[in-house]
Amino acid sequence: MKEQIYFNISIEDAIRNWSKAKWKINAKSITVEGKHFTGESLRDAWIDLLASGTRHILIGYCDNYYQHNGCQGHDLPDDEQV
Ligand SMILES: [Zn+2]
Repeated sequence: MKEQIYFNISIEDAIRNWSKAKWKINAKSITVEGKHFTGESLRDAWIDLLASGTRHILIGYCDNYYQHNGCQGHDLPDDEQV
């Protein structure tokens, strides 16, 4: 059985590795409940999320997603290519 995993971002990796420029660029495409971020405010928000136990940010929709360990995968029909 093939499986699809939804893309997600590790908050820890982002905090550890993203440059100031990368935070700024990514902040432009991220809103939460209509709220926009600067690079700095996005980083601060993710630090708060990490502190509260959220370790991954989901990209897109997933009905099998857990905030501590991300997408748990989805079975695909055998004829569907990933
Ligand atoms: Zn998923």
